[in-house]
Amino acid sequence: MRYGIEDVINGIRALAEGLGDVTIMEVCGTHTHSIRRFGIPSILPSNIKLVSGPGCPVCVTAQEDIAAALDIADQEDVIFTCFGDMMRVPCGNASLYSLYESGRDIRLVTSPLDALEIAKANPGRQVVYFAIGFETTAPHTAALIEAANNQKVENISILNTHKTMPQALQALLSGQKKINALLCPGHVASVIGANAFRFVPEKLNLPAAVSGFEAYEILAAVLKIIELCRYNRVDCVNMYPGVVTADGNRRAVELMYRFMEPADAVWRGLGIIKKSGLKLRREYARFDALARFEITHRKPEEPKGCICARILRGDKTPDECARFGKDCTPDTPFGPCMVSSEGSCAAYYQYRD
Ligand code: SF4
Repeated sequence: MRYGIEDVINGIRALAEGLGDVTIMEVCGTHTHSIRRFGIPSILPSNIKLVSGPGCPVCVTAQEDIAAALDIADQEDVIFTCFGDMMRVPCGNASLYSLYESGRDIRLVTSPLDALEIAKANPGRQVVYFAIGFETTAPHTAALIEAANNQKVENISILNTHKTMPQALQALLSGQKKINALLCPGHVASVIGANAFRFVPEKLNLPAAVSGFEAYEILAAVLKIIELCRYNRVDCVNMYPGVVTADGNRRAVELMYRFMEPADAVWRGLGIIKKSGLKLRREYARFDALARFEITHRKPEEPKGCICARILRGDKTPDECARFGKDCTPDTPFGPCMVSSEGSCAAYYQYRD
């Protein structure tokens, strides 16, 4: 039997009474936006808090990776391709957008395979695809490498910054006491499966629920978490069973690991986390843009006064940033969390009323 949304809200309120503070972290940009869009914090009891973690793929891309993107995109013979949100991420005094304005050939794509078509249409030039994101986008990048390899398109390469969620969450949430539960990302879970989040109860000793993105689905997942807290149980419950299976999308995972393998990765706000990234396997290393272009590793300063790094760790909320809504808005963004349509600062700003 499916309960109505009011029953779910009343259930949360009843179970939360006298429970003490419960802070639930969500780690998906779409969750962050849905939570703000539906005004969910305003209907939760005051002892139940939702905070955002490292769930926005643009936001977690490290400053040194953005710098590498700029240095490659700034080369004469390069056509640099990326998703739209990356264009305005600031890096020192520049961004991909400022390079584009200065005449560099930077093109937006909606799929990695668009980059392959651009490479085929421009055989005399080097095409680079800026691969960002988690397990949701990495299989698409793998499909690009597979197609380039099969079709013998050699003038394409990948600036690969893919990351994997479980390792980062384990590093972030181990041994801390501030976050009491996890709202697991439905999109990532649809690829790697609900079982991939079993480590949350088993290793971190925290309750968790895999959630969808509608108001009802998020509230039902919160209710399940509060119920687990109320009865002192730790478990990871799949509250998105119509989309997420226990084992996920095996074909997508197999494709991803056929072309990539685990590697250490650097996350904005979290630093280097062991085996939390994906690098190209040796057989496909010739598609690695970092091997193809000579660039010097550099790490420009984070934007001044920007606390994106702390927001991504769940230490702060966007409205605690002195620049939020003043000189930092979606039209004049200072940091990636305001630039990205999935960023926490953008969500807080867009739904601030
Ligand atoms: S409001 Fe702007 S400056 Fe502040 S943390 Fe967010 S992106 Fe950075």
